[in-house]
Amino acid sequence: LGGSISRALQQMSNATVIDEKVLNDCLNDITRALLQSDVQFKLVRDMQTNIKHIVNLDDLAAGHNKRRIIQQAVFNELCKILDPGKPSFTPKKGKTSVVMFVGLQGSGKTTTCTKYAYYHQKKGWKPALVCADTFRAGAFDQLKQNATKAKIPFYGSYMESDPVKIAVEGVERFKEENCDLIIVDTSGRHKQETALFEEMRQVSEATKPDLVIFVMDSSIGQAAFDQAQAFKQSVAVGAVIVTKMDGHAKGGGALSAVAATKSPVIFIGTGEHMDEFEVFDVKPFVSRLLGMGDWSGFMDKIQEVVPMDQQPELLQKLSEGNFTLRIMYEQFQKILKMGPISQVFSMLPGFGAELMPKGQLDSSNPKLMNESRIMRIARGAGRQIREVMEMMEEYKRLAKIWSKMKGLKIPKKGEMSAL
Ligand code: GDP
Ligand code: MG
Repeated sequence: LGGSISRALQQMSNATVIDEKVLNDCLNDITRALLQSDVQFKLVRDMQTNIKHIVNLDDLAAGHNKRRIIQQAVFNELCKILDPGKPSFTPKKGKTSVVMFVGLQGSGKTTTCTKYAYYHQKKGWKPALVCADTFRAGAFDQLKQNATKAKIPFYGSYMESDPVKIAVEGVERFKEENCDLIIVDTSGRHKQETALFEEMRQVSEATKPDLVIFVMDSSIGQAAFDQAQAFKQSVAVGAVIVTKMDGHAKGGGALSAVAATKSPVIFIGTGEHMDEFEVFDVKPFVSRLLGMGDWSGFMDKIQEVVPMDQQPELLQKLSEGNFTLRIMYEQFQKILKMGPISQVFSMLPGFGAELMPKGQLDSSNPKLMNESRIMRIARGAGRQIREVMEMMEEYKRLAKIWSKMKGLKIPKKGEMSAL
């Protein structure tokens, strides 16, 4: 997505005459790209219509920064879709809240429950987990394992088959223990079915949650809207968490889920581990969706891991697109500390989430060392040939990424904005 939208906007900026046709062409390109990113068809169409109303052709013709006007309009429209207008219920530390998680099986509920509990526990809360999934064998064991690892109290049963009974018992127990965040994990079944929605309705009625969170797998594509809407119709969904944002999904389904539930996305899941969990922030998300990059996020990461005095130098090298083995050697450790490299680079304009996976390399790179040289290096360094080859693979992979950065303007701290 990022690439094609950037390209569409680029073409826009190169056009000397901006007229309706150019605007339409540009919007059509953006439409196609958004659809490819799983944004729901109706949302895309509405956005297209809105943009045409907002962007005044006379303004464009008057020679203002044309590209920026259209870019800003698209950006604002997408932000608007993601902002349902009112914040979700926010639990307060020290005051008991019950939060119920719903979503299809496999969407990431149990994992996300623990992440949510752990996130709050680190901030001084007293969370607790209740397993009301009596449908799937092993559900309680999974929650127990997660909870134990995070040292969070949990409640569940191997024997009881009534999810409502367990949910109520668990919530009561933890209210007595003065937990301030009581999290109820539920069953998902494997497909949308009447029995599931009826069960959710009953658990919700019995536990009276302050907040119901709908958990959605980011890779479900165009199904997002209907799925979110189906849950919203049986329980009062008040917030959304989108999981598996570390995968290949572009995240367009998040827009659908917000539109269907009229509730904001509050967190995203970015991995299987407990701390791979981020507060959702609309603007950087949209920037990334549009391939505009999240400069402030990237700069924050750079500042976290690269010593102050070396930051300007690193940025300079990145912007020149010069990437040598020596630079890799110097920067490798620091860069890797920035988290999975693809996540860091997805913050940059033009990269999107489309970084090449390991192994898919263009092996015809002329700068590559030949076999005898690799053997000599391995011998000289007292290393296995395989290790040298692996290093070269890594270099090629990074060099390819770096080469994309050539000519990028790196904004100075202070002049960064979402656009
Ligand atoms: P549930 O059936 O809704 O409770 O889903 P689970 O919590 O059991 O998760 C299903 C699978 O998705 C598990 O293998 C999780 O490790 C995985 N998972 C959950 N969240 C994420 C995420 O944000 N990223 C990745 N990569 N995997 C996730
Ligand atoms: Mg589960």
